[in-house]
Amino acid sequence: MSGREDELRGNLRLVRERIEKACEAAGRSSDEVTLVAITKTFPVSDVRALAALGVQDVGENREQELKAKAPECPDVTWHFVGQLQSKKARSVVRHASVVHSVDRSSLVAALSKAAVAEERTVRCLLQVSLASYGSADAATGFSRGGVEPDAVLDLAGEVAAADGLELGGVMAVAPLGSDPDEAFDALRVVASWLRSEHPKADWISAGMTGDLDAAIRHGATHVRLGRALLGTRTPLG
Ligand SMILES: *Cc1c(COP(=O)(O)O)cnc(C)c1O
Repeated sequence: MSGREDELRGNLRLVRERIEKACEAAGRSSDEVTLVAITKTFPVSDVRALAALGVQDVGENREQELKAKAPECPDVTWHFVGQLQSKKARSVVRHASVVHSVDRSSLVAALSKAAVAEERTVRCLLQVSLASYGSADAATGFSRGGVEPDAVLDLAGEVAAADGLELGGVMAVAPLGSDPDEAFDALRVVASWLRSEHPKADWISAGMTGDLDAAIRHGATHVRLGRALLGTRTPLG
């Protein structure tokens, strides 16, 4: 057993405990929450180690890293969580079963075409912009992407009607410097609008290392954890 495997085993235990406690505090069952390990910048050996420890869902935020790692570890479900250019849709669809960052019509069209060409069904989550819930974002004009809440249902209709795509739910990143409780509460409202028209689209992808507990309080079904599991990232050059 290498030192790194021991480290990942320990981190995973702590993360599972954190999820368990947050669920308990929220009166939820931890069976309702799926851990997606975000392995960006870390080597595929870490992905294999996590898979051996029972992690079944792994995510990347760049197409290049996804396509390099996914074929090396085909026994996990790969998620794509980053901003996606339409021209990279084919490659992402080839390697990922779930795309969390669907935010515009042109991307829906590109993903649908790619899914049909690859003869796959891709589960799509609509990334919702919560920028208006973050005072820091409003001040800097910095957006972390996503469709505006009032445009979610139109985009959902497009995904639901598209060949090769399956509407899965919503995803969001809490605005920097904002109160994540406020942001994730807003996300829960958007998720309930979506479910009222598309009952099967019941996933809420929310919560990262810094705001996991708030996300679970507000109904997250999929938490996307990087640093808590893998440690500090060295920025890519
Ligand atoms: C990197 C990333 C995460 C994980 O963030 P951590 O703070 O490392 O837990 C989650 N979601 C997205 C979209 C990311 O890019």
